[in-house]
Amino acid sequence: MSTYLTILGFNSAIPTVNSSPTAQFLEMEERAFLIDCGEGTQVQLRKAKARFSKINHIFISHLHGDHCFGLPGLIASFRLLGRETPLHVYGPKGIKEMLETIFKITETHKGFEVIYHELESKKSEKIYEDNRVEVYTIPLDHRIYCNGYLFREKPKERHLNMQEIAKYPEIETCDYHNLKLGKDFILSDGYVLKNKILTTEPSKSVSYAFCSDTRYLETILPIIDRVDVLYHESTFLHDLKEMADNTGHTTALEAARIARKANVGKLILGHFSNRYHDLSVFTDEAREVFPNSFLPKALEPIKI
Ligand SMILES: [Zn+2]
Repeated sequence: MSTYLTILGFNSAIPTVNSSPTAQFLEMEERAFLIDCGEGTQVQLRKAKARFSKINHIFISHLHGDHCFGLPGLIASFRLLGRETPLHVYGPKGIKEMLETIFKITETHKGFEVIYHELESKKSEKIYEDNRVEVYTIPLDHRIYCNGYLFREKPKERHLNMQEIAKYPEIETCDYHNLKLGKDFILSDGYVLKNKILTTEPSKSVSYAFCSDTRYLETILPIIDRVDVLYHESTFLHDLKEMADNTGHTTALEAARIARKANVGKLILGHFSNRYHDLSVFTDEAREVFPNSFLPKALEPIKI
């Protein structure tokens, strides 16, 4: 299974006619993750033709409205659509109180369980793991407590070389599992068949890092080292560096420096201030430092 990222919205603060605040839909190894949930996210999910019911884990970077005001509406819609599966919500401490207060005052009965995973650590921690995927926090430096998230596919199983396997009738279907794990096969006469002969290299495991609102922060470099795709906010151009620092944001030039120092494969910029109308100025600035920098395209899935 391939991994696809669909950016649902990428502008900062106020939604406009043509753009929405931050939200992303990540499909990795058949899991569907929602990352941030700005106002209007469920409409964007509809436009992206994403199946609502597939989302079981939502990761919220911080509690500024342009990153989470879409969440109560989305959860209310889940109930109207008849959801019964528990929903896991990861986000800063306070997210439970925020949502449960809204549900209580508006008398919204969810009808399914919401399991909150409230975060407050300033160190990166593994917050999700199953047999194929793991997710880590990326502690950021914003005006309020904020995390990015690193999504990583675990190493994959080796592929069976059926042409070679067919030469040895002793190898049965029940042995395939061990071969995929890289184990050698011992024939009944004691001869050891090397795994390399019976299998081929596994598919590459990919990784994606989402870095939400933050000042320029080099402590994230070891966490995002060599990720295939990095999304990093760049609210301003570098001539407004002082404003970026004061408001807890990054410039395009700085985002590119992070991408270069972390040796990532590809950089996607986002969270642009509404003062900019022609967004190509962001890639112009970033490409001076990191040529593989791109603007996001809303609702177009990117293969990672
Ligand atoms: Zn913010």
